[in-house]
Amino acid sequence: MKFRNFKMVSYVVYGRGSFNQLDEILAPQRKGDFPMIFLVDHFFENKPLVNRIPLLASDKIIFADTSHEPKTKQVDALASQLKQEFGSISGIIGIGGGSVMDLAKAVSLMMNNPGSSADYQGWDLVKFPGVYKAGIPTLSGTGAEVSRTTVLTGPTRKLGMNSDFTPFDQIVLDPELAANVPPNQRFYTGMDCYIHCIESLTGTFLNEFSKSYGEKALNLCQEVFLGDGPWGPEHDDKLMMASYAGGMSIAYSQVGVAHAVSYGLGYLLGTKHGVGNCIVFDQLGEYYPEGVREFKQMVEKNRIEIPQHITRGLTDDQFETMINVSLGMKPLWENALGPDWEKKITREKLRALYEKL
Ligand code: NAD
Ligand code: ZN
Repeated sequence: MKFRNFKMVSYVVYGRGSFNQLDEILAPQRKGDFPMIFLVDHFFENKPLVNRIPLLASDKIIFADTSHEPKTKQVDALASQLKQEFGSISGIIGIGGGSVMDLAKAVSLMMNNPGSSADYQGWDLVKFPGVYKAGIPTLSGTGAEVSRTTVLTGPTRKLGMNSDFTPFDQIVLDPELAANVPPNQRFYTGMDCYIHCIESLTGTFLNEFSKSYGEKALNLCQEVFLGDGPWGPEHDDKLMMASYAGGMSIAYSQVGVAHAVSYGLGYLLGTKHGVGNCIVFDQLGEYYPEGVREFKQMVEKNRIEIPQHITRGLTDDQFETMINVSLGMKPLWENALGPDWEKKITREKLRALYEKL
């Protein structure tokens, strides 16, 4: 048995208004005149948050279009733009949901590693540490703020740059920043966290470390999505910590069937991670009976629409592509179904599942 020895985020600040400490937090990280780059979700363009960014002379704000999930060519373009314009930078601060946080992590790494980010999609391929990087979530659920990966769609696969150099040097958890997320989006990304918990807690890789975080995150999700009364600040507080704890839970275990199947949808159809997981999880009663029952309660209580029939009319080749992508996620299947998972999930069974989505 080889135990995972994992790298964690170095500094964490939590609390409403902690964003105001950013200036002080970044000061010791500044390297001469090299700028800090603030990569901000395009949702915040012309919003008051932009005026609260502690911008010094050479610093730069770049708004990131998150209509699609991050791509390797988007990462490469950003890194080469920054190298051309500044030579080097003091650091990069990602302010947004999982998409922007992943982009910031990847660009940080590509400032110091040669070639294309596509060369590093996989496990432990990154050669050199990136520049200083900080993550500031404005949407809770993915756990990207704590994970050792950055999920990218590349020319041949959708896979993370998974390495010890990938976690942030600093995260700022300020639940105030998540106040204006539209309810559907909040639910989809919140359910990413809920599904992380169910997949981790029912998986064969489970240990007491990931159970401790997973159970807490699960309870917080239940309080937030099954509790009474309208959505308020305390819900944002809880969901931000659920995301963090859910991320810590899978750091020492793995996700499962919903993620393995959802990756196929994401790769072929561009379905976004949160909603894709919901579409799949809705049909996974056979694998996660209790979790799916509770998920359906949450959907109903929060009056959320889960898209239906998104694979209707796809060709055999397209189904084959999704099946290949999904079966490629071996550790996920092994966590979900055990070491003999290949006997339990056949191509036919997976095809039938994809047809239901
Ligand atoms: P997202 O970052 O793609 O954002 C979704 C939408 O919410 C966007 O339109 C964005 O503009 C909007 N938004 C963000 N913050 C907002 C706010 N405060 N108010 C209003 N709108 C806001 O969504 P996500 O679900 O957080 O992230 C999904 C991405 O995270 C995917 O690319 C997925 O692959 C990645 N992911 C990464 C990890 C990891 O460990 N690195 C884990 C899970 C998912
Ligand atoms: Zn996820």
